[in-house]
Amino acid sequence: MAVMSPSFDRVRDAFEAVAGPGKQSGQWMTFQCPCHDDHHASAAIAHNQSGGRTVVRCFAGCDDRDILDRLGLKVVDLFDEPMRREAPLSASERAVRKRAGERARAEAEQRREATRADMARRRAELERQRGDQLGEPEFVRAYLYERADGTPAGSVVRYVTHYEHLDVKTFRQFRWDKTRKRYAPQGFDPVLYHLPEVRAAVEARTTIVLVEGEKDADRARALGATATCNAMGAGSFTQAHVDQLAGAERVVIVTDRDEPGYRHAQTVREMLSGAVGAVYVVQALTGKDLSDHLDAGHPFEDLEPVDPEAELAAKRVCTVKDVMRATSPHARPQPPTHPPPPTAMSATAAQVASRSPAQEKDEVAR
Ligand SMILES: [Zn+2]
Repeated sequence: MAVMSPSFDRVRDAFEAVAGPGKQSGQWMTFQCPCHDDHHASAAIAHNQSGGRTVVRCFAGCDDRDILDRLGLKVVDLFDEPMRREAPLSASERAVRKRAGERARAEAEQRREATRADMARRRAELERQRGDQLGEPEFVRAYLYERADGTPAGSVVRYVTHYEHLDVKTFRQFRWDKTRKRYAPQGFDPVLYHLPEVRAAVEARTTIVLVEGEKDADRARALGATATCNAMGAGSFTQAHVDQLAGAERVVIVTDRDEPGYRHAQTVREMLSGAVGAVYVVQALTGKDLSDHLDAGHPFEDLEPVDPEAELAAKRVCTVKDVMRATSPHARPQPPTHPPPPTAMSATAAQVASRSPAQEKDEVAR
């Protein structure tokens, strides 16, 4: 599917300059993420027609703004329409503007050059650490995803690829094709894992445990809990998942003890607020996730309460959402001033914040 839009072309070109050609995967074009040691192509871009903008996402949970920074882009570059000027410019103003533009382009190019070098260095380090690949990826398990009525929606298959020095796990989605009665290598409806059980728990007003990944969901389920997760991990929790949990009495989020985990937990907690009764966030006493916690001999009840927002703040992590929140929704975008406007960031944040909730929801639903 060819996308024709100024913002998409701009972001794709910047990504290709640092990470090489992207790969089309459904509505997303995927790239290796410039912000973390990415074994796959975890970063993706897509054009949102109704919002007139391009969406950038790392499915491992990196901050959109960090990614833009590595690409030498600004938030305003995500929008198709440039900010409008109120008055025509004089010749000298145009000259100043032109020089500023040239300077900005040169700086962005330098930024991309640095990112390209950094990614090459990290790739080499990763390859050194894992050694040569030994054979094809090996099937580990298939996790069935059902719709609320119990009919199959699809399956997430877990593979492991062995390297000389370590193993790398990967996941792939398969959609159940009910007419052909077989699985096709495609994404499927965004249903929660064990959705029929989740809906029953909503009806029965019992606690629902939300974890990262099917393995942990099944560990909690084996202990008698109603446990679920969304397919494809952090960054893929959508409004559809919120709707499936709507009306629940209590949701306990078990967050992974790392930055993408906290970011995911924070996003999910915000998305669920108002839709469900109470939301708690807990984490493993030992290790990274629920499996580590249980393997260390701790009972499920000993998971410790944690505030993901505080954890992220302690790491001085800032998200686009934080910037939007910090800006009054009534603030008008400022017309650009010259030379390069020091307020460019807040103006674009206001521009983002002034977009209708329906468009934001549409992006979340992607
Ligand atoms: Zn990333």
